[in-house]
Amino acid sequence: MTDSERAQRHRARMQRKKEVIDAAIARADRKQGLLLILTGNGKGKSSSAFGMIARALGHGMRVGVAQFIKGRSDTGEEAFFRKQNHVVWHVLGEGYTWDTQNLDRDRETAQRGWAIVQEMLHDPSFDLIVLDELTYPLKFGWLDLILVLNDLKNRPPMQHVIITGRGAPKELCDAADTVTEMNDIKHAFRSGIQAQEGIDL
Ligand code: ATP
Ligand code: MG
Repeated sequence: MTDSERAQRHRARMQRKKEVIDAAIARADRKQGLLLILTGNGKGKSSSAFGMIARALGHGMRVGVAQFIKGRSDTGEEAFFRKQNHVVWHVLGEGYTWDTQNLDRDRETAQRGWAIVQEMLHDPSFDLIVLDELTYPLKFGWLDLILVLNDLKNRPPMQHVIITGRGAPKELCDAADTVTEMNDIKHAFRSGIQAQEGIDL
Protein backbone atom coordinates (compact mmCIF):
# COMPACT_ATOMS: atom_id res chain seq x y z
CA MET A 1 0.00 0.00 0.00
CA THR A 2 1.34 3.43 -0.91
CA ASP A 3 1.53 6.29 1.61
CA SER A 4 -1.29 8.07 -0.15
CA GLU A 5 -3.54 4.95 -0.05
CA ARG A 6 -2.78 4.58 3.66
CA ALA A 7 -3.67 8.24 4.25
CA GLN A 8 -6.88 7.82 2.23
CA ARG A 9 -7.92 4.75 4.30
CA HIS A 10 -7.13 6.55 7.56
CA ARG A 11 -9.27 9.54 6.48
CA ALA A 12 -12.21 7.27 5.58
CA ARG A 13 -11.95 5.42 8.92
CA MET A 14 -11.81 8.68 10.90
CA GLN A 15 -14.78 10.06 8.94
CA ARG A 16 -16.87 6.99 9.89
CA LYS A 17 -15.73 7.30 13.51
CA LYS A 18 -16.64 10.99 13.59
CA GLU A 19 -20.16 10.22 12.33
CA VAL A 20 -20.68 7.65 15.12
CA ILE A 21 -19.33 10.02 17.81
CA ASP A 22 -21.33 13.02 16.51
CA ALA A 23 -24.51 10.92 16.51
CA ALA A 24 -23.86 9.81 20.12
CA ILE A 25 -23.27 13.44 21.17
CA ALA A 26 -26.48 14.54 19.41
CA ARG A 27 -28.45 11.79 21.22
CA ALA A 28 -27.25 13.01 24.66
CA ASP A 29 -29.39 16.15 24.64
CA ARG A 30 -30.68 16.31 28.24
CA LYS A 31 -29.36 18.54 31.03
CA GLN A 32 -29.69 17.59 34.69
CA GLY A 33 -27.92 17.52 38.01
CA LEU A 34 -25.85 14.37 38.29
CA LEU A 35 -25.08 12.00 41.11
CA LEU A 36 -21.54 10.66 40.78
CA ILE A 37 -19.88 7.95 42.88
CA LEU A 38 -16.10 7.55 43.06
CA THR A 39 -15.34 4.32 44.87
CA GLY A 40 -12.86 1.42 44.94
CA ASN A 41 -9.56 0.75 46.72
CA GLY A 42 -7.25 2.68 44.41
CA LYS A 43 -6.00 6.22 44.96
CA GLY A 44 -7.78 9.05 43.17
CA LYS A 45 -11.33 9.26 44.54
CA SER A 46 -11.19 12.46 46.59
CA SER A 47 -8.65 14.11 44.31
CA SER A 48 -10.92 13.46 41.32
CA ALA A 49 -13.77 15.17 43.18
CA PHE A 50 -11.49 18.13 43.97
CA GLY A 51 -10.60 18.33 40.28
CA MET A 52 -14.31 18.69 39.46
CA ILE A 53 -14.59 21.44 42.08
CA ALA A 54 -11.91 23.36 40.15
CA ARG A 55 -13.87 22.83 36.93
CA ALA A 56 -17.09 24.03 38.51
CA LEU A 57 -15.43 27.14 39.97
CA GLY A 58 -14.00 27.90 36.55
CA HIS A 59 -17.58 28.11 35.32
CA GLY A 60 -18.56 30.46 38.16
CA MET A 61 -20.51 27.75 39.99
CA ARG A 62 -21.04 27.60 43.77
CA VAL A 63 -19.70 24.55 45.60
CA GLY A 64 -20.35 22.94 48.99
CA VAL A 65 -18.01 20.35 50.46
CA ALA A 66 -18.67 18.05 53.42
CA GLN A 67 -15.86 15.81 54.62
CA PHE A 68 -17.11 12.94 56.75
CA ILE A 69 -13.98 11.16 57.89
CA LYS A 70 -11.11 13.49 58.29
CA GLY A 71 -7.80 12.08 59.36
CA ARG A 72 -5.82 15.28 59.00
CA SER A 73 -6.51 19.00 58.88
CA ASP A 74 -3.54 20.17 56.82
CA THR A 75 -4.53 19.07 53.34
CA GLY A 76 -3.64 21.22 50.35
CA GLU A 77 -7.17 21.04 48.96
CA GLU A 78 -8.73 22.45 52.13
CA ALA A 79 -6.15 25.27 52.31
CA PHE A 80 -6.71 26.13 48.66
CA PHE A 81 -10.47 25.82 48.33
CA ARG A 82 -11.28 27.55 51.62
CA LYS A 83 -9.79 30.71 50.08
CA GLN A 84 -12.27 30.61 47.18
CA ASN A 85 -15.33 32.85 47.50
CA HIS A 86 -17.70 30.33 45.97
CA VAL A 87 -16.76 27.41 48.23
CA VAL A 88 -18.32 26.44 51.55
CA TRP A 89 -16.17 23.79 53.28
CA HIS A 90 -17.45 21.69 56.21
CA VAL A 91 -15.36 19.17 58.13
CA LEU A 92 -17.98 16.91 59.69
CA GLY A 93 -15.94 13.93 60.81
CA GLU A 94 -13.54 13.74 63.70
CA GLY A 95 -11.05 11.32 62.21
CA TYR A 96 -10.68 7.64 61.50
CA THR A 97 -12.56 5.11 63.62
CA TRP A 98 -9.29 3.65 64.85
CA ASP A 99 -8.34 7.12 66.12
CA THR A 100 -11.65 8.17 67.70
CA GLN A 101 -12.38 4.69 69.16
CA ASN A 102 -15.83 5.84 70.26
CA LEU A 103 -18.77 4.37 68.38
CA ASP A 104 -21.56 6.47 69.92
CA ARG A 105 -19.67 9.68 69.31
CA ASP A 106 -18.88 8.69 65.71
CA ARG A 107 -22.58 8.03 65.10
CA GLU A 108 -23.66 11.34 66.63
CA THR A 109 -20.99 13.23 64.68
CA ALA A 110 -22.15 11.65 61.40
CA GLN A 111 -25.80 12.45 62.09
CA ARG A 112 -25.05 16.06 63.02
CA GLY A 113 -23.03 16.22 59.80
CA TRP A 114 -25.90 14.91 57.73
CA ALA A 115 -28.19 17.65 59.08
CA ILE A 116 -25.73 20.20 57.63
CA VAL A 117 -25.67 18.33 54.31
CA GLN A 118 -29.49 18.33 54.26
CA GLU A 119 -29.45 22.13 54.38
CA MET A 120 -27.13 22.24 51.37
CA LEU A 121 -29.28 19.68 49.53
CA HIS A 122 -32.24 22.03 50.01
CA ASP A 123 -30.35 25.05 48.74
CA PRO A 124 -30.41 25.48 44.95
CA SER A 125 -27.66 28.13 45.18
CA PHE A 126 -25.23 25.19 45.49
CA ASP A 127 -24.47 23.96 41.97
CA LEU A 128 -22.16 21.16 43.16
CA ILE A 129 -21.92 19.36 46.48
CA VAL A 130 -19.03 17.02 47.32
CA LEU A 131 -19.69 14.47 50.07
CA ASP A 132 -16.17 13.24 50.69
CA GLU A 133 -15.86 9.81 52.36
CA LEU A 134 -19.63 9.52 52.83
CA THR A 135 -19.49 5.77 52.15
CA TYR A 136 -17.98 5.05 55.60
CA PRO A 137 -20.78 6.39 57.81
CA LEU A 138 -23.16 4.52 55.52
CA LYS A 139 -21.16 1.30 55.72
CA PHE A 140 -20.90 1.49 59.52
CA GLY A 141 -24.65 2.17 59.80
CA TRP A 142 -24.17 5.61 61.41
CA LEU A 143 -26.42 7.11 58.75
CA ASP A 144 -29.60 5.57 57.42
CA LEU A 145 -29.13 4.72 53.74
CA ILE A 146 -32.85 5.10 52.93
CA LEU A 147 -32.87 8.60 54.43
CA VAL A 148 -29.71 9.56 52.54
CA LEU A 149 -31.09 8.21 49.23
CA ASN A 150 -34.32 10.09 49.78
CA ASP A 151 -32.55 13.40 50.52
CA LEU A 152 -30.36 12.94 47.44
CA LYS A 153 -33.39 12.20 45.28
CA ASN A 154 -35.24 15.32 46.43
CA ARG A 155 -32.40 17.76 45.83
CA PRO A 156 -32.78 20.61 43.30
CA PRO A 157 -32.91 19.16 39.76
CA MET A 158 -29.80 20.95 38.49
CA GLN A 159 -27.62 20.27 41.54
CA HIS A 160 -24.67 17.91 41.05
CA VAL A 161 -23.51 15.67 43.91
CA ILE A 162 -20.25 13.72 44.09
CA ILE A 163 -19.79 11.01 46.72
CA THR A 164 -16.39 9.47 47.42
CA GLY A 165 -15.18 6.55 49.51
CA ARG A 166 -14.44 2.85 49.38
CA GLY A 167 -17.18 0.22 49.30
CA ALA A 168 -20.07 2.34 48.01
CA PRO A 169 -23.31 0.44 48.79
CA LYS A 170 -25.04 -1.11 45.78
CA GLU A 171 -28.24 0.89 46.36
CA LEU A 172 -26.22 4.12 46.18
CA CYS A 173 -24.54 3.05 42.93
CA ASP A 174 -27.95 2.07 41.54
CA ALA A 175 -29.24 5.58 42.27
CA ALA A 176 -26.20 7.28 40.70
CA ASP A 177 -25.75 8.49 37.12
CA THR A 178 -21.99 7.94 36.92
CA VAL A 179 -20.05 5.40 38.99
CA THR A 180 -16.29 4.96 38.80
CA GLU A 181 -14.31 2.31 40.63
CA MET A 182 -10.65 3.16 41.21
CA ASN A 183 -8.58 0.03 40.86
CA ASP A 184 -5.59 -0.33 43.22
CA ILE A 185 -2.71 -1.67 41.17
CA LYS A 186 0.12 -0.25 43.25
CA HIS A 187 0.53 2.43 45.95
CA ALA A 188 3.79 3.99 47.12
CA PHE A 189 2.73 3.67 50.79
CA ARG A 190 3.18 -0.09 50.59
CA SER A 191 6.83 0.33 49.73
CA GLY A 192 7.34 2.45 52.82
CA ILE A 193 6.94 5.93 51.32
CA GLN A 194 5.07 8.38 53.55
CA ALA A 195 2.15 10.52 52.31
CA GLN A 196 3.62 13.27 50.13
CA GLU A 197 2.41 16.88 50.10
CA GLY A 198 0.76 17.79 46.82
CA ILE A 199 0.12 14.15 45.96
CA ASP A 200 -1.50 12.50 48.96
CA LEU A 201 -2.45 15.51 51.10
P1 ATP B 1 -6.83 10.79 47.08
O1 ATP B 1 -7.32 11.75 48.15
O2 ATP B 1 -5.36 10.81 46.97
O3 ATP B 1 -7.57 10.93 45.79
P2 ATP B 1 -8.54 8.58 47.77
O4 ATP B 1 -9.60 9.54 48.11
O5 ATP B 1 -8.78 7.69 46.59
O6 ATP B 1 -7.15 9.31 47.63
P3 ATP B 1 -8.67 7.57 50.48
O7 ATP B 1 -9.06 6.16 50.81
O8 ATP B 1 -9.62 8.65 50.80
O9 ATP B 1 -8.24 7.58 48.94
O10 ATP B 1 -7.28 7.83 51.19
C1 ATP B 1 -6.65 9.05 51.19
C2 ATP B 1 -5.19 8.90 51.45
O11 ATP B 1 -4.76 7.56 51.42
C3 ATP B 1 -4.32 9.58 50.38
O12 ATP B 1 -3.17 10.04 51.01
C4 ATP B 1 -4.01 8.47 49.42
O13 ATP B 1 -2.79 8.65 48.70
C5 ATP B 1 -3.91 7.29 50.34
N1 ATP B 1 -4.36 6.09 49.63
C6 ATP B 1 -5.36 5.98 48.75
N2 ATP B 1 -5.47 4.73 48.27
C7 ATP B 1 -4.49 4.02 48.87
C8 ATP B 1 -4.06 2.65 48.80
N3 ATP B 1 -4.68 1.80 47.98
N4 ATP B 1 -3.02 2.27 49.57
C9 ATP B 1 -2.41 3.15 50.39
N5 ATP B 1 -2.76 4.45 50.52
C10 ATP B 1 -3.80 4.89 49.77
MG1 MG C 1 -10.62 10.07 49.79
